[in-house]
Amino acid sequence: MTATHDVAIAGLGAMGSAAAYHLAKRGASVLGLDRYAPPHTLGSSHGETRIIREAYFEHPSYVPIIQRAYELWEQLEDESGRDLFLQSGGVMVGPPDSTLVTGAELSARMHDLPYERLSPAEVTNRFPALTPAEDTIAIWDSRAGILFPEDCVRSHLDIARSNGADLRFDEPVESWEPDGDGVSVRTASGEYSAGKLLLSAGAWIPSLMNGLRLPLVVERQVLVWFEPKANPGHFAADRCPIFLWDHGQDRHFYGFPNMGTGVKVALMHQGEDTEVDSLDREVSQRDEDAVRAMLELYLPSANGPALSAQVCMFTNTPDTHFLVDFHPEAPQALIASPCSGHGFKFASAIGEILAELLADGRSKLNIDLFRLDRFGAARA
Ligand SMILES: Cc1cc2nc3c(=O)[nH]c(=O)nc-3n(C[C@H](O)[C@H](O)[C@H](O)COP(=O)(O)OP(=O)(O)OC[C@H]3O[C@@H](n4cnc5c(N)ncnc54)[C@H](O)[C@@H]3O)c2cc1C
Repeated sequence: MTATHDVAIAGLGAMGSAAAYHLAKRGASVLGLDRYAPPHTLGSSHGETRIIREAYFEHPSYVPIIQRAYELWEQLEDESGRDLFLQSGGVMVGPPDSTLVTGAELSARMHDLPYERLSPAEVTNRFPALTPAEDTIAIWDSRAGILFPEDCVRSHLDIARSNGADLRFDEPVESWEPDGDGVSVRTASGEYSAGKLLLSAGAWIPSLMNGLRLPLVVERQVLVWFEPKANPGHFAADRCPIFLWDHGQDRHFYGFPNMGTGVKVALMHQGEDTEVDSLDREVSQRDEDAVRAMLELYLPSANGPALSAQVCMFTNTPDTHFLVDFHPEAPQALIASPCSGHGFKFASAIGEILAELLADGRSKLNIDLFRLDRFGAARA
């Protein structure tokens, strides 16, 4: 079986679905292939909720991208008729010199964003669920909130399909190779030819690099939903913002208000490195206890019974900035790994960026921070 498309996409999760949407809307003929049937619970884009925030502590360069992402999430809501975003506001809590606090404030100042510095008493006054320690402060980001990832992916895919994209599930890309200026892509069902290839396979992306060794590490992450032990009303979405909370040595945990399934809390970047094919998908008592330790110290009223838990994967770069660049040996293939645990919120804008790179060779927004050559990528 042979087909010819403008662009083939390997991986239709957060990034691939968004790229399919933008490419199809531009009139490109798109072949999308996925290992499973997205949205699914086996990659990096499941678990009911994702944080979106504008005062971006990680680096001010992300702010123009997140601003475009907000516009595009709103557009997707309108087009899909689904609720994809809830503006709860958000607090970054920590010692005044913590990266969470200084980084968020730097981005807010550089980009003239509305923000407030709140004392612990002001935080508790506004949001009684949250009781930060005396020696901390909080940065309030009123634009922060919650995205619903499964519906975001579903909406991108639905609209891509209605604009003509050929989306095939349970059909993993097994291999690909340059074919003149284009590519040839092989799956168990056949071989396809396309002008360009987007490699957006999330945690599986290293297996599609054709010998290019990337310094990507897959990290196991555990999400736990808790029933509040006291004052459940304080955790309702109209009374509790999303929160990121420094717990020492620039490490943090984060959480969400109760969206009806419990208060979801997770540790950031404190999971084990793993291989995608040997990921332990079982949540142990030890996993739960590690999250519970944060509740005991910082959020005691959330520390009730665990209602559910899930395992997810981060795909980390060494500097935790995204990787978006053309394959150095095959410029018809574009590598997209915007993860390191913070990529979802950008997916709508990254999809547009990927579509521009594939169709025009360049993107309107500056993505220099995501270049491959910062790692000195090497052949295996
Ligand atoms: C627990 C957790 C919490 C997070 N919280 C946040 C947050 O609050 N805010 C935020 O902005 N970000 C967050 N992130 C990060 C964000 O979710 C990721 O950056 C994002 O989901 C990555 O999207 P992706 O498209 O790269 O991967 P995925 O969405 O996993 O998509 C990859 C797809 O590729 C498919 N695939 C794999 N191999 C092949 C193949 N050979 N051929 C075809 N298809 C293939 C897979 O089936 C999958 O559908 C979190 C991540 C995790 C794990």
